[in-house]
Amino acid sequence: MHVFLDTQWPGSYCDTKRSCCYPKTGKPAADFSIHGLWPNYKDGSYPSNCDPDSVFDKSQISELLSSLQKSWPTLSCPSNDGISFWTHEWEKHGTCSESELDQREYFEAALKLKEKASILQALINAGIKPNDEFYHIEDVKNAIKEGVGFTPGIECNVDSSHNQQLYQVYLCVDTSGSEFIECPVFPRSKCGSRIQFPKF
Ligand code: AMP
Repeated sequence: MHVFLDTQWPGSYCDTKRSCCYPKTGKPAADFSIHGLWPNYKDGSYPSNCDPDSVFDKSQISELLSSLQKSWPTLSCPSNDGISFWTHEWEKHGTCSESELDQREYFEAALKLKEKASILQALINAGIKPNDEFYHIEDVKNAIKEGVGFTPGIECNVDSSHNQQLYQVYLCVDTSGSEFIECPVFPRSKCGSRIQFPKF
């Protein structure tokens, strides 16, 4: 088993036919944000909703609230405070962690990993910027590999003009949720060879 840290470019979540809603706390930072930390099997399948008794408890993340608002913002509509997104991620994926992270540890692990990855900085260092330009997917992958030290998986989505854009970046993490590792499998990518990096 391994764990995926799935990060997302908010500009690409929002730049689709469906659009998005900014959280109640305002427009998120122009940075990759967390979608989730997902335990995964080597064959690509994953466990889900592993402990129905472990319901999300807001009081356990009270000290992480401002970090979560900054780094794990909700973009679903209608505009909300993020609790339903975090509840979904904890109950569906967080309860399946092999090292049995508790709720606070789960959110803390994801926040630390996201900071450690510095995905946007890795891209900018390679001249890849969120400026609506198109980039070769191999250049995007290599820039992240160079910065983080491990090969990322890239997922694309499409804007209303059918342009493929850089949507999610996956990195693999050991089961303790602390160190990046090379991925044994990658999620399906759906990217063309040239992808747009939208402004946000
Ligand atoms: P998952 O079930 O963890 O694989 O995540 C997929 C779900 O997360 C879908 O319902 C998405 O619409 C939702 N989702 C993805 N990104 C966000 C976001 N930034 N804010 C709110 N919901 C999201």
